[in-house]
Amino acid sequence: MRIKISIIVFTLFLGSCTLDQKLFLFDNCKFPINSPYPGGVLSIDINNKDFDRNKEINAEGLVSSICKNSLYQSRMFIPIPLDFKSKKIEIKQDGAVFSSSKIFNKNYRESRITISNNDFVSPGEDLQPRIKREYGLSQVAKNTFTPIKLKDWAMTEPAKGLTSSEFGVRRFINNQPRNRHSGMDIAAPEGTEVLAPLSGEVIIASNFFYKGNVIYINHGAGLVSSYSHLSKIEVKNGDKVKKGDLIGLIGQTGRVTGPHLHWEVYLMGIAINPEIFLATSI
Ligand SMILES: [Zn+2]
Repeated sequence: MRIKISIIVFTLFLGSCTLDQKLFLFDNCKFPINSPYPGGVLSIDINNKDFDRNKEINAEGLVSSICKNSLYQSRMFIPIPLDFKSKKIEIKQDGAVFSSSKIFNKNYRESRITISNNDFVSPGEDLQPRIKREYGLSQVAKNTFTPIKLKDWAMTEPAKGLTSSEFGVRRFINNQPRNRHSGMDIAAPEGTEVLAPLSGEVIIASNFFYKGNVIYINHGAGLVSSYSHLSKIEVKNGDKVKKGDLIGLIGQTGRVTGPHLHWEVYLMGIAINPEIFLATSI
């Protein structure tokens, strides 16, 4: 009889472990800080009794993740895309709203640059297959989701330099509107060291048309970062890197106007302002 009970308890335990890995992905529920604006992360407390974690949660169609604080309370993370228009996010289950949060407007500045190399402004037909293939690879990379619990999440700056272009800037190239700036630019002389801001695994170490020499690192739990325009890549695909490891050198490969690091951070596939993830922002 005792053996039978043990087996039942063990099975229940195993069952809850699997579920925990899907939902409660962050050990430290303060991560990331609440930044409720497009390009930020809504991070809010919810009462465990207000929702059923076995049922689907709808948050305006956005992806979400939950961290369990205690028996009574959890924290929900919702990365907010730059093009998100609504002024609030309602979180629903079975059609009923159990949480509603205001989303603030953030005024991102405009930037107008001139690029004289026409290959980078309007690439020819012959370059399209390459550009398409590399776009596909970066889409897969940024959506990488490894269901692990992140023990450490606060990032250090990947390079010493000046922020020459912030995240979210509305860009115009030769007066034509382009995609919003999906990362942060750190300008520094060619050859400046680029260090991994957080531990992870290299999932791309390659040369892309627009990004030049580029690295993508999977940190786990839906957190992915990338480093573009490097003059040199010091890691290879599949390498495990620790926070502070040398991964490359700043350069001006790909579409650039000067040497800088273009640094992107993705949470569950959504480009988020990298500043939010810096340890200094806590
Ligand atoms: Zn950039």
